[in-house]
Amino acid sequence: RTAIRIGIVGYGNLGRGVEAAVARNSDMAVAGIYTRRDPAQIEPMGAGVPVHAMDSLPGHKGGIDVLVLCGGSKDDLPRQSPELAAHFSLVDSFDTHARIPEHFAAVDAAAQAGRTTALISAGWDPGMFSINRVMGEALLPDGATYTFWGKGLSQGHSDAVRRVPGVAGGVQYTIPVDEAVAQVRSGLRPALTTREKHRRECFVVLEAGADASAVRKTIVTMPHYFDEYDTTVHFIGAEELAREHGAMPHGGFVIRSGNTSQENKQVIEYRLQLDSNPEFTSSVLVAYARAVHRMQQAGQWGCKTVFDVAPGLLSPRSAAELRAQLL
Ligand code: NAP
Repeated sequence: RTAIRIGIVGYGNLGRGVEAAVARNSDMAVAGIYTRRDPAQIEPMGAGVPVHAMDSLPGHKGGIDVLVLCGGSKDDLPRQSPELAAHFSLVDSFDTHARIPEHFAAVDAAAQAGRTTALISAGWDPGMFSINRVMGEALLPDGATYTFWGKGLSQGHSDAVRRVPGVAGGVQYTIPVDEAVAQVRSGLRPALTTREKHRRECFVVLEAGADASAVRKTIVTMPHYFDEYDTTVHFIGAEELAREHGAMPHGGFVIRSGNTSQENKQVIEYRLQLDSNPEFTSSVLVAYARAVHRMQQAGQWGCKTVFDVAPGLLSPRSAAELRAQLL
C-alpha cells in the first residue's frame, strides 16, 4: 500500500507539529510544505522535505492526497479553507467557535462542487473536547456538561497582555479553580460563574520606566479578556520570561455528570495534559487526515466535522484488526 501523501499549508507551530506527527505514522508521508513566505527562508525539520511557494500548489494536485491547513483561524483559514477545498481534500483546525456555522457553509459549497472531503475544526477544542461533550449529553441526558481549560498558555490572552502600554513582554496562563473542579467531579452539578470556574495568571516584563501599578490595573480590568476573572499579575525579568515561559503547555477536561435514576449519579471525565498544545493539535489533525482520505475515496464529499467521522477511520489498523484487538 502506498503512503497517504500530505501537503502542509503554512509552516508555523502547527505546520512543524504536522511534520513531526506524519513522521510518527508509517502509512503517511509529507509530499511538500507550502508557504506564503519565501520558501528559501523556511527550514523544514526533516531532511529532503520540499518547501514550495503557495502559488505552485494547484500544479501539484496530482501528488497530494490531503492538505493539512496550518494557518491562523482569524485571518487565514476563512479564506484558505474554501479556496483550497474546491480542489483538494483537507483538514483544518478552525477554532473561532461562534463562526463555525458560516465557515462550514463556505467550505461545504466548495467541497460539494469539487467532490472533495474537507474536515473543519479538528484539534482538541474544538475537536476531541467537542466529541466528549456530545457523548456526555447523549449518554446522560439528565445531566450537565462542564469544560475546564488549563493549566495552559492562552495565545489570545498573552497577545492582549503584550499590547498593554508599558509591557515589553509577557504570557498568560488560564487555570481551572480547584474547588469548582472538585464540586463538578462529585456530581453535585453546581451552577458556576465565569469567575468561579477559571482564574488567570500573567507573567509580565515591564518596559524601562513603566508604572507597574498602572500596568496591573489595565490588565485586570481589561473588558472581555480579564474583567470577569480573578487575575494575578507577576512582574519578572526578561531572562526569566525566556527561561521559564517559552513553552506552550495546555490541556483541560470535559466532565459530564448526570443521573440515570433518582439514587444513582454517573460522572464521565475526559482529560488532556499537554506539554505542547500545537504538537498535540497537529497529531489530531494528522489522524483526521487519514479518515478524510478514506472518506474521499468512499465518495463522502462535502464539509465534515469530527461529529461525522467514525472512530475506526482514524486508525491505521483495519476494521477486523480493531474488532479483534481493541473492542
Ligand atoms: P502560527 O505559528 O502563528 O502560524 C500561523 C501561520 O502564520 C503559519 O501557517 C505561517 O504561514 C505563518 N507564520 C508562522 N510563523 C511565521 C513567521 N515567523 N513569520 C511570518 N509568518 C509566519 O499559528 P499556530 O500556533 O500554528 O496556530 C494556527 C491556528 O491553529 C491558530 O490560529 C488556532 O486557531 C488553531 N488552533 C486550534 C486548536 C484546536 O484545538 N482546534 C488548537 C491550537 C491551535 P506561512 O508559512 O504561509 O507564512
